[in-house]
Amino acid sequence: MSATSNQEHAISADTVMAVLEGIHAEVAELGMGEVASYIPELAEVDPALFGIAVCSAAGNVRTVGDADVEFSLQSVTKAFSYALAIEDNGLDFVLQRVGAEPSGEPFNAIRLDPTGRPPNPMVNAGAIVTTSLVHGADARERFERIAQFLGAAAGRSLSANDAVYRSEVLTGDRNRALGFLMRSAESLVADVDETLDAYFLQCAIEATARDVAVMGATLANGGVNPVTGVRVMTERTCENVVTVMASCGMYDFSGEWLLRVGLPAKSGVGGGLLASSPAEFGIGIFSPPLDENGNSVRAIAAARALAERFDLHIMHRGAPRTLSAR
Ligand code: GLU
Repeated sequence: MSATSNQEHAISADTVMAVLEGIHAEVAELGMGEVASYIPELAEVDPALFGIAVCSAAGNVRTVGDADVEFSLQSVTKAFSYALAIEDNGLDFVLQRVGAEPSGEPFNAIRLDPTGRPPNPMVNAGAIVTTSLVHGADARERFERIAQFLGAAAGRSLSANDAVYRSEVLTGDRNRALGFLMRSAESLVADVDETLDAYFLQCAIEATARDVAVMGATLANGGVNPVTGVRVMTERTCENVVTVMASCGMYDFSGEWLLRVGLPAKSGVGGGLLASSPAEFGIGIFSPPLDENGNSVRAIAAARALAERFDLHIMHRGAPRTLSAR
C-alpha cells in the first residue's frame, strides 16, 4: 500500500497480505446465508467461493482466496451506470429523474417518491432510470457504453454472461412493472422494453474480486484508474457517485453499514461487494451467500474487519491537516 493523503505512514505490502490472509481464514468459517435463487445461474454458484482483493490508490493489488473467479456483478454495476448518466447529462438533470435518498426499503421495492422519482440510483428502480439516461442510439449501444465504462474502471474489457442475461429477461417482470410505473410518473421517459434490455444486460456483466478492487481504487483515486492511468470519469462525478454509495449502496442496510464500516460501497446479489476508501484504496470481495438484505455475509464481515484493522471509516480522524495563518 502506498502512503497517501492524510495517512501518517505507509502500510507495507507484507502487512496487508498478512491481514488479508488472517481475515480470509477467520471469515471463511462463517456459514450463514443463502445464495441468490431467483435465476438458476446464480443458484448454482459454489457457496464456498471466497475472494478478497485490495488495490491501493497507487495501483498495487493484493489478493487472497478466489479473487480471480468471475462472478455476476449485478447491482455493483449500478454505481457505474449512475456515474455514466451524470457524465452524459450532468448531476442536476439526473437528480430531476432519480433522487439521492436512502430508500429504507428492499432493493426491488415498487415505490416512488412524492415527485414520482425512484429514491436513489443504487436500487433497481433508480438504476433502470439511470440506464435510460446513458446516451446511445438503442439498448445495445447504451449497454456497450456501460460495459466499456466498467471495463475502463477495471482495467480490462468486461462482458455480459449470456445465460444470466436471458434468465434476467425471463424473470424480470417486477423490474418491468417498475419501468411502467416510472413511465407513467414520467421519471422514465424512454421506452420500457428497450431500457430493461440494457438494464438486464448490465446486471449480467461479470468480473472478479481483483477487477472490483481496481474499480474501487478508481473511485478512491478521483476517477483515474491507478493501474492503467486512464481517466474514467471527472473528479466531480466520482465525488457524486461515492457520496450516494456511502448513503445508499448497501440496500436496506446502508445506514448501519455507514455506521459500522464507514466506506462508500455497493453490493450485488451475485455476492460481490465494492468498497472505496477515498484517496487510499479499493476493496473487492466475492462470496455468494447473502443475508436477508441481499448483501454477501462474508463480504460484509471481511470489509468490516479490514476497515477496523486499518481505521478506514470515512469519519475517522486521520493525521490533522493544517491551515496556515495567511
Ligand atoms: N438483476 C437483479 C434485479 O434487477 C439485480 C439485483 C441486485 O443485485 O440488486 O432484480
